Amino acid sequence: MWSLSVILFLLSRRFVFFLLYNNFIPISLYVTIELVNVGQAFLIASDENLYRKELDVACSVRASNLVQELGMVSNVFSDKTGTLTRNEMKLVKFVLNGVMYDIEEGNGKKQSANAILSKFGTNAKSFSEFCRCLITCHTVVREKSGQYRAESPDELALVEGVGNYGCNLMERGSKEMIVEQFGEKRMYEVLAVNPFNADRKRMSVLIKDTVDNKFFVMCKGADNIMMPLCKLSNEEKASINKSLLELANLGLRTLIIASKQLSAEEANRWLAKFKAATVSTVNRDENIAAAGAELELGMQCVGITAIEDRLQDEVPEVIADLAKAGIILWMLTGDKLETAISIGRSCNLILTDTTLVYLTKITDKAEYAARLREVYQQIETNREPNTALVMDGPSFAYFDDTDPEQRSMLLRVGQGCRSVIACRLTPTQKRELVMLVKKDTVPSATTLAIGDGANDVSMILEGNVGVGIFGKEGRQAANNADFAIGEFKFLRRLLLVHGRWNYVRQSKVFLYSMHKNMVLTLTLFWFRY
Ligand SMILES: [Mg+2]
Repeated sequence: MWSLSVILFLLSRRFVFFLLYNNFIPISLYVTIELVNVGQAFLIASDENLYRKELDVACSVRASNLVQELGMVSNVFSDKTGTLTRNEMKLVKFVLNGVMYDIEEGNGKKQSANAILSKFGTNAKSFSEFCRCLITCHTVVREKSGQYRAESPDELALVEGVGNYGCNLMERGSKEMIVEQFGEKRMYEVLAVNPFNADRKRMSVLIKDTVDNKFFVMCKGADNIMMPLCKLSNEEKASINKSLLELANLGLRTLIIASKQLSAEEANRWLAKFKAATVSTVNRDENIAAAGAELELGMQCVGITAIEDRLQDEVPEVIADLAKAGIILWMLTGDKLETAISIGRSCNLILTDTTLVYLTKITDKAEYAARLREVYQQIETNREPNTALVMDGPSFAYFDDTDPEQRSMLLRVGQGCRSVIACRLTPTQKRELVMLVKKDTVPSATTLAIGDGANDVSMILEGNVGVGIFGKEGRQAANNADFAIGEFKFLRRLLLVHGRWNYVRQSKVFLYSMHKNMVLTLTLFWFRY
């Protein structure tokens, strides 16, 4: 009889024998793939075709473990302003009392105030007020060299736009600003600034004219926010809406300009409230916002500005190529519906024969559910790939993301379309949409989010792959992204060339590593007997 110790000895030898085959499990593959990825990241970062000369930036890769995912992307979520467009704004048109004017580019020669105002006939007074609003309601600074420095390109465009009519910002101190109005110098005291933010969507200033000691509130902002703040008759509302639609159909970004005069008591009473809000220790931001909102009530609508933003190079071609590669493009923007559609048409997201289905202008949950079902059935019954879905943020707010049926219907609608245009979205809603596609698609979809501004950061972080563009709105997006590029057109090369090659190379390394291990261990196994 064998003793127990002998049995144990034999068992342990058998165990050691199998342990020798551990090479079969490719632990080294992790290291190999990491090394390959670092190499591939280097290839992307040193690609001359991804280098943007004007900004002196190459593609920067911050997450080398994501390089193969670039070749698997099925849904691209893109911001519009600054991503598809250049974010080089120019004031091209404005509307005063229902009459549309084109900006006349001044060719440097000075005109007298009368000569300028006489061109506007009965609207001369409105035009003068319009210019005063634009030249005082901003946070632009003029440097010694005469260059303007602005927080946002829109603001700069407005100030530069009125420059064509002899209205310029001359100097800005901590409390006062000196401006030139139709060639005449004037000093205004800036008493308070209620800044622009994504929730308020407007900015206003309280200023005092130092010549006649009059107080004015000057305000500019998005039309849906500004219209309720202005005193308007029904006809005026209709006329403004008509002008807004006309401008949006031209693909222009619109802002409403409004103002009101305050008496000295009103101004001082409000200033006391504003000061109390700025020094409050709890809920300071809310208190300041509330004070600002109070000041902006009951204004007179002065005019509408229309700013043009041109598309970046090759955007239509890139979008057409991405569509050919079977990638669904979602354009998520904060702009108006008509502007978004017009940009969508000019950049190939919507072709001339594309059918549009709408999930817009919905006012409650039940309606959203019903409309979604309708659109879903429409898409399911005639599955033609040349459809585009148009949705808007205020309606999307009624989407019930806890209802699995609604989630799957929206997803099927999105996947059944060649593109999706979502406008008036908040940064959180942008993120929610990315999350929906990322989580619910079966088999799971690889999502890529691309944007240029701080408002796109949440979306970029949510996507499987985040791409940031070095733009005019700071570097937050580029710093938070996995890849940062200089222009939208580089996305094509990044996805369709690098992504594809990275994926192919990585599969080859994987197969090579498996086969190598198989050869090693099977030889051992074979000659064992
Ligand atoms: Mg942007």
